[in-house]
Amino acid sequence: MSSTAIAVDTVGHWIDGRVVDSDAPDATDVYCPANGEVTKRVPVGSRADAEAAVTAAARAFDAWAATPAHVRARVMFTFREKMLADIDRLAAIICDEHGKVLDDAKGELQRGIEVVEFACGIPELLKGEFTENVGSGVDGMSLRKPLGPVVGVVPFNFPAMVPMWMFPVALACGNTFVLKPSEKVPTLAMEMAAMLTESGLPDGVFNIVHGGREVVDTLITDPRVEAVSFVGSTPVAEHVYRTGTEAGKRVQALGGAKNHLVVMPDADVENAVNALMGSAFGSAGERCMAISVVVAVGDEVARAIRERLVERIAELRVGPGTEPGVEMGPLITREHRERVMSYVAAGENEGAELVVDGRNGVREDGFFLGASLFDHVTPQMKIYREEIFGPVLAIVRVNSFDEALQLVNDHEFGNGTALFTADGRAARTFISQVRAGMVGINVPIPVPMAFHSFGGWKRSLFGDHHVHGREGVRFYTRYKTATIRWPEAGAAPTEFAMPTAK
Ligand code: NAD
Repeated sequence: MSSTAIAVDTVGHWIDGRVVDSDAPDATDVYCPANGEVTKRVPVGSRADAEAAVTAAARAFDAWAATPAHVRARVMFTFREKMLADIDRLAAIICDEHGKVLDDAKGELQRGIEVVEFACGIPELLKGEFTENVGSGVDGMSLRKPLGPVVGVVPFNFPAMVPMWMFPVALACGNTFVLKPSEKVPTLAMEMAAMLTESGLPDGVFNIVHGGREVVDTLITDPRVEAVSFVGSTPVAEHVYRTGTEAGKRVQALGGAKNHLVVMPDADVENAVNALMGSAFGSAGERCMAISVVVAVGDEVARAIRERLVERIAELRVGPGTEPGVEMGPLITREHRERVMSYVAAGENEGAELVVDGRNGVREDGFFLGASLFDHVTPQMKIYREEIFGPVLAIVRVNSFDEALQLVNDHEFGNGTALFTADGRAARTFISQVRAGMVGINVPIPVPMAFHSFGGWKRSLFGDHHVHGREGVRFYTRYKTATIRWPEAGAAPTEFAMPTAK
């Protein structure tokens, strides 16, 4: 490996505070989804690249862990200021590589920056406990210690926010970090790495290595790595969880989703439709919190919602995310668009009613696809069971609240869900009994704020902890309790019995 200035055509790794070229022979193309052109290449890193990143993180750990928490927090304060000052340029990078509209890109940056703000409070969050006189002349204290080098593996759909769910809390707690970005959107991570260094983060504390399975498997089994945070699809989440825990790591692995929005007969239809349009088709449905199933309680609700959705989809403005007024951008790649279209075909073949066919919106000047709406979808259908991760919304009709709740609870995934209603008792029962990690009442995408924690249930999350908030602090620290005595000379006798407080 050799150190260079920021490469123009092929993105480098970020190791020990600088850009490093990979010796790996392979690289993959990065596209601008709005015009289909290749904008850069990203190396398929090697085992050696991954090990070099972990070596840097391991070397930097002791000094960073020993840095006072309030001094670590100051780096986060500066990083926050830099991100905010540059938010327009950063949003444009996300828009260019991912395809989402500019306001949405700014929104994800803002939500990520809020985790940085949470991490700025780390001295308070890490404050330990102290008890004077747990025994006569004996004091007790408990503290949270950082783990060591930790790893984050992230998906393409939030190039800024998902990494920021992880590294601000991990770093503030005193860990060092190796990030493996998505090969489809590598640039934003590199920008954040440079900004962290400019914010005063010591070299080696934050590192980036690009690549695929070889790099990921090296990172999650390296004996020096203590913990792994993963966000991505369920099959890979399960692989990372099993492999990482087998290798003795602490692992949190967030997977895929199929989020239901239940509409009760007493709900305001216009509010529900507004919510559905944004949550099903915002970011072209490429969100783990996207609503992909609307559960209509009663045929009258289904009819009203369907009618308004058809009108609204006809008005939906699809185009490049940089164009003012555009509401939905392209999909991430041509292959992913093919995959989404194959689900639309599968839905038709399975007998669902295709009310609006988004395939009519295919444009060859980019990876654009229109919004699709299915009605009369049943739980047996593939388009109901599987995550499509595109602008496809399915209406499922049920007869009662209980049936709706059962439907949500029976699904394999349990990331987010929402209930639209005017009935407080139904809302309370839903919150209490629904088997999902994040619940919205008249809120379609209930993404928790940074000072709460994000995560799903069932096969949407493998592991014990949700990300960020206090859950993040718990995940990235381990507990230590000390019992302390300062006896006078000769005043500490031998005790053969289990010590008890006197
Ligand atoms: P993905 O699973 O294909 O990739 C995620 C990461 O894993 C990437 O960095 C990728 O390079 C790496 N990877 C891919 N295949 C691998 C393998 N075989 N072994 C090791 N690493 C591998 O996911 P994606 O397509 O980038 O993102 C979309 C998925 O992410 C959707 O399923 C979505 O629901 C999910 N997601 C979940 C959440 C959540 O909070 N639960 C948030 C965002 C996205």
